[in-house]
Formats: sequence, structure tokens, C-alpha cells
Amino acid sequence: MRRPFIAGNWKMHLDRTAARQLAADLATSLKGIRDRDIALFPAFPLIPAVAAALEESPIQVGGQNLWFETEGAFTGEVSGPMLRSVGAVHVLVGHSERRHILGESDDWISLKMAAALASNLNPILCVGETLEEREGGLTEEVLSRQIRSGLGRVAADAMARVTVAYEPVWAIGTGKTATPETANAAHAFIRSEVEDLFQVSVSRELRIQYGGSVKPGNVDGLMAMPDIDGALVGGASLTADDFTRIVNFETRT
Ligand code: PEP
Repeated sequence: MRRPFIAGNWKMHLDRTAARQLAADLATSLKGIRDRDIALFPAFPLIPAVAAALEESPIQVGGQNLWFETEGAFTGEVSGPMLRSVGAVHVLVGHSERRHILGESDDWISLKMAAALASNLNPILCVGETLEEREGGLTEEVLSRQIRSGLGRVAADAMARVTVAYEPVWAIGTGKTATPETANAAHAFIRSEVEDLFQVSVSRELRIQYGGSVKPGNVDGLMAMPDIDGALVGGASLTADDFTRIVNFETRT
């Protein structure tokens, strides 16, 4: 059984006071939860305050990005060891906003995956097709390229620390969610690619999150699908009530 993993990506929102308050509210509302992993991804300057607010909580903290060198003349960038030193345990790699707005290449993302693991961070590799690619019948080709490149520098024995997030670009922040069946088909394809790259035991253990307008109203249907193991939540992670409801998704008995 893969343990569910729900992550909240706060993107470039909140200041220190608001971030600390939201983290404290979630530490209270999610206090009793033991059967699923939860992580929050605040903007870099907010990580120490959020980590401090979550000290007594099982909720973990991650960075939204990292650079692949450990230190040097890379103005504006942040390394894996720096993230670790302020309390981050996880890191997002290749989020679609970084691929499409900041122009990150597949090769950079591959280097960042290796750097995250070398820094003892648990990376979430984000993949997903654009609307144009989906409509052009290119979804599997795009996912295959992003998976093979993103995991190209990862050793099989490090895969237990890797999560993949399937985030169709057309569903992020748009209010359009992939149907559970559409999302599950993409997840199953990703799992088959990972099996081909590594071995079946690695692909069976791999947690694949869905991301793209996950809300309290659609999370239960998504989480009921066999290949969906969690969610990467943007907008709805900024409201304590919504994120709490998402983490408490209802499982079918
Ligand atoms: C995201 O930030 O990765 C995301 C999926 O955002 P939203 O939930 O707002 O679509």
C-alpha cells in the first residue's frame, strides 16, 4: 500500500505573519492525522517561520525550487544544503510555472533531481502536458520525455525518496480539473514508464500525486483512483479549511 502524500504549494503568496498563522492553523486542524504524509511548500524566505510553527506537528516543509550546484556565484539561487539548513525536507523540481514561465529545460530539471537527492532532500518531480500538446495527441510523448529525462540521473535505490506529480498545465490554477479517469490514465502511463526505466518493484512503490485545481469538492473522486496516491495543491492550500478537507479526503470502503 502506498501511503497518501498531500502537498500544499503556496507559490509566491503570503508574508511571514500570514504564513506563520496558516501553518499554525494547519498544525492544529491536522493534529490527529497519522496515516498520510503532509508537506507545505512556502516561498524561500518563509521557510524558517513555517518550519518553526510546525515543529510539534507531523506536517513537513519543502522548498519550491533549488539550484543544482551546492554553492558559488549564482545570484538569486538557493542550493539544496541551504534548504536543508532552514528546515526543508522536500523540494519541488520542474514545476510547470518554472518550466513555462522561467524557461527551465529538461536537462536542468534532471540535474536538480540529482542535486536534491545528494542534498538529502526528497524531490517531487513535476510533469505534465500543455493543452496544445494534449489536443495534438502528444500527452504520452511529453510525459515520457519529462519522466525519462527527470529520472535519468536517479539511481534505482534512491527512487524510494522520489515522488512524481502529474500536473496537466491546462488544469493548474484554471479551475479545470482532469477527470479522475483522465488523470488515472496519465498516472498509469507514468508508472509504466518508471517500470521500464527501473523495475516493477520501483514503479509499484512510487507515489504519484495529481495536481491541477484540486479542491474539497473533487479530491475524493481523484483519490479513489488506483494510481492516484496524493495531491499537489496550489490555490486551495492557502485556506486552512479547504486544505484540511483535502487532506481528510474520504476513502471509499
Ligand atoms: C500547483 O501549484 O502545483 C497547482 C496544481 O495549483 P492549483 O491547485 O491552484 O491548480
